[in-house]
Amino acid sequence: MGLLAGTIFDRPPHCERCDLPETECQCPPEVEPAGAFLPANRQTARLAVERRKHGRKMTVVRGLSGSESDLPALLKRLKDLCGAGGSMAEEVLEVQGDHLERVRAELRSMGYRIRG
Ligand SMILES: [Zn+2]
Repeated sequence: MGLLAGTIFDRPPHCERCDLPETECQCPPEVEPAGAFLPANRQTARLAVERRKHGRKMTVVRGLSGSESDLPALLKRLKDLCGAGGSMAEEVLEVQGDHLERVRAELRSMGYRIRG
């Protein structure tokens, strides 16, 4: 007697992409969506302007984690914003020049909490 008739066991879960049963699906894992990062409002960025060799100033963003924020994208955004070069070393973002106010306003508008 079909005890399971009409239940989900009639049709095991199928992949939404290839429509094979999930047990046979060979699709590669989904690329992590941007939403996998931690919301900006749960992260605190620490900002500073530091003086480097020859008196050059750098705007430095610390305190963000590459697993919680898309740091390369963030660096690009800040460089575009400031029209300046920049770099990332480990999890520290640096933008050439003193752009503290602009960087602070931008990060704040993205929802980050700011210290410094
Ligand atoms: Zn599939």
